[in-house]
Amino acid sequence: MLDRYNRKINYLRISVTDRCNLRCNYCMPENDPCLLSHDDILTFEEIQQVVAVAVPLGIDKIRLTGGEPLVRRDIINLVSMISAVPGLKDLGMTTNGILLDKYAKRLSAAGLKRVNISLDTVNPEKFREITRGGDINKVFRGISAAKEAGLLPVKVNCVIDSSTGEEDAMAVGTYCRENDLDIRYIPKMDLETGKFGIVHGGTGGNCIQCNRLRLTSDGKVKPCLFSDLAFDIREFGIQEAIEQALLSKPEKGSINLSNLFHNIGG
Ligand code: SAM
Ligand code: SF4
Repeated sequence: MLDRYNRKINYLRISVTDRCNLRCNYCMPENDPCLLSHDDILTFEEIQQVVAVAVPLGIDKIRLTGGEPLVRRDIINLVSMISAVPGLKDLGMTTNGILLDKYAKRLSAAGLKRVNISLDTVNPEKFREITRGGDINKVFRGISAAKEAGLLPVKVNCVIDSSTGEEDAMAVGTYCRENDLDIRYIPKMDLETGKFGIVHGGTGGNCIQCNRLRLTSDGKVKPCLFSDLAFDIREFGIQEAIEQALLSKPEKGSINLSNLFHNIGG
């Protein structure tokens, strides 16, 4: 699939839930995060159908995200259903790692290929502060479990304020080198003001090279994180929603006044 700017679109990020077991201060409000109703959330069958339609159109890479994908009930089944779609080359997940210790082996057996794990600091106190209550030791155990389960390469997503030279960023970098993990530094973004930057060590944030579409947990195909445009698969049908999103993919991200990270899928 080529968009209007001749970019090859082969990557779909699917948000499987808007719920999360953490409350990172740059992502989710502390109280009352205004969650979607269960009826609005796509069923596993609907998600699998989207993948089955998207793959023949040219999508060969899928990443599951959220919210926190591992809090979606029966997530292992969903991974099996998606990985069974013929023609899909890559299936990854972005997770906060809190539940990975419990799920890594089964995810791998179900067909998940690799994981990105979010970690902005290696300091337990700071982690608790940023995530509003999270236990960093669970993430460390999750990272070990992912490596043991062969979900490789394990990549760490580290959100930075502005520079990779910040103290926390450097310490996460050292931890990654010592533990054989890839690292991507993600500049803190603000959807409402359109503030975003290029991901160091990854592909995000560079509009010229953008190869992705997004599916929100309530079934809207979005051409860009920094855009209010969204095409509902239940309204347009899956193929039409994907094609409309492709056609309306902007040359560059602008602003998004209708979503937060946790409900669009970061
Ligand atoms: N819960 C999972 C996790 O934290 O990895 C997946 C969803 S989370 C929204 C996906 C990624 O978006 C995480 O790596 C997170 O750090 C990042 N993220 C969330 N809010 C962000 C923001 N305001 N700026 C930059 N990255 C953000
Ligand atoms: Fe949850 Fe991930 Fe957002 Fe943190 S970044 S609140 S872990 S969805």
